[in-house]
This record gives sequence, structure tokens and C-alpha cells, in this order.
Amino acid sequence: MAISTDSRSEEKAAQHSQEEKRWVLSDFEVGKALGRGKFGHVYLAREKRSNQIVALKVLFKSQLKQSQVEHQLRREVEIQSHLRHPNILRLYGYFYDQTRVYLILEYAAKGELYKELQRCKHFSERRSATYIASLARALIYLHGKHVIHRDIKPENLLIGVQGELKIADFGWSVHTFNRRRTMCGTLDYLPPEMVEKTEHDYHVDIWSLGILCYEFLYGLPPFEAKEHSETYRRIVKVDLKFPAKPFVSPAAKDLISQMLVKNSAHRLPLNKVLEHPWIVQNADPSGVYRG
Ligand code: AMP
Repeated sequence: MAISTDSRSEEKAAQHSQEEKRWVLSDFEVGKALGRGKFGHVYLAREKRSNQIVALKVLFKSQLKQSQVEHQLRREVEIQSHLRHPNILRLYGYFYDQTRVYLILEYAAKGELYKELQRCKHFSERRSATYIASLARALIYLHGKHVIHRDIKPENLLIGVQGELKIADFGWSVHTFNRRRTMCGTLDYLPPEMVEKTEHDYHVDIWSLGILCYEFLYGLPPFEAKEHSETYRRIVKVDLKFPAKPFVSPAAKDLISQMLVKNSAHRLPLNKVLEHPWIVQNADPSGVYRG
């Protein structure tokens, strides 16, 4: 079977991969290492029959067990394998042997977003707005499927061959029909309701999008502090400050302020984010930032 990219055969391919096809390592020609994660390595690979280039993520069972993340990985695979959106990294399938688990992932040719952000220090309004609009569309799709991501941050975003943003890591995502209390995600991106361990729902992702928008434009997250306790305090107070920078317009600050609202029900809904004047004026309608 082929790992295909057009959507109808993609559906079929996904069904195949999980229900019929049992992948084995010899189905792939494994190339250079793309990167190293906490639990293993990621390699460029070619599926021999279809010739499709993929990213093969190799995880060591012993490390997964030791860190007690098998459950989280199962959830990640279950959720990500069913998602089909241009701004969400595809998970085509998985297989395992005695010692390792292999994830067959869409290859994001332009690599990690956070490296780009480090290189550029901060992004232009045009680039930031294009990314934020892409992410808002991906989150609308996810929430429509009752999935909350809960860990939107630069480290979890990859860039595809056209320059399109891809949400890549579903380790903290959940299928949700209820409000939840689990503490997860990364400190700088946690919303007040998660810091205070009160119930949270899909509104957490709107908060993270606000943090991300700020970080894209200013190059660092808004509540960053030397001590964790100080970051917590600033988040809970929503101690939001906009340093004077000539490259950030009042409209961008307005959008960020409407997403970083303590009362989660009052955060700007994602469809309204897409209609916000700053997005309308700056985001590339193609959804792709070409530089
Ligand atoms: P991870 O274990 O997911 O943190 O991946 C480790 C590193 O491998 C990342 O930081 C990326 O540089 C690279 N990587 C992971 N997945 C992909 C992918 N689908 N396409 C390209 N590079 C990837």
C-alpha cells in the first residue's frame, strides 16, 4: 500500500495502515537523523513501495515505560492518526518490535518553528498573523472533533515544505466531553485556570494562542520570569505588559489582550480571531508564509 497525500486515498491509506497493513522496518529505507527527542530519534525515511518520504520516529519501549508515558503515547497515536488538516502533522501509522515503537509521520521539510524564532529573534506582523490564522483554523478543526491540544507552543510546531505551520505534538491532547482538572503543558503557556488547578476546557487553547502571538511578535513569552513562582503569579494576575517596540501595532496588542483574558469564557472565540482586523490585514490568505 502507498502512503498517499491526496485526501480520499489518504483516508483509505489510514484505514489500511491501522486495520490491514502491518508495517515493518524493512518497508522503509532509513536515511539521516532529523532530530532527537526525549524518548528516541527521528529519521528521514522512504517507504519503499510508494516512494513517499516520511519522518520515522523511533521510541524506546524501556524509556517509555520508565517515564510512565505509554498511556500518553497511546492517546497521542489514537488522536493524531484520525486528524486530517493542512496545519496538523499527519500520523500515517505505527508499528513496533521487541524494543522499539515506530511512528510514521508526515515529513516537515522546513523543521522546527522555535529554531526559526530563535534565528529571527521575532517575526514580522505578516508572518505572525499568517501563523496565528493557520493555528486558529487548526484549533477550530480540533475543537470540532472534541480534541483540546493543551500544549500549543513553538517547540511543538513544525514547518512544512511550502512554509505552512504544522501542529506536531499531541502528547498532552485529550478527547474531551467534560471539563478537566489535570495539570499539564509548559509553564509559560499555562492559562490561569490550569495554574490554579480549577476546571478547564477548550478555552485553554485560545489562551495559548494569545501567548504564542505575543512570543512571535516580541520573541519571548509574556509572563516569563526568573522564578517559576513569579511566572505563576504573573499568569494568575494576567500581568500583561507590552514593551515599546516599533514593529508591533496597536491592533496586534488588541488581539493579544482579547485572547489573554482570565475568565476563559470571555476569551475571543477562534472564529472571531480570524475576523480580527489585525489578522484580516496581515495574514496571507493562502495560509502560507513564504518569507
Ligand atoms: P521529537 O521527539 O518529536 O521532539 O522530535 C525530535 C526532533 O526531530 C524535532 O525537534 C525535529 O527537529 C525533528 N522532527 C520530529 N518530527 C519531525 C517531522 N515530522 N519532520 C521533520 N523533522 C521532525
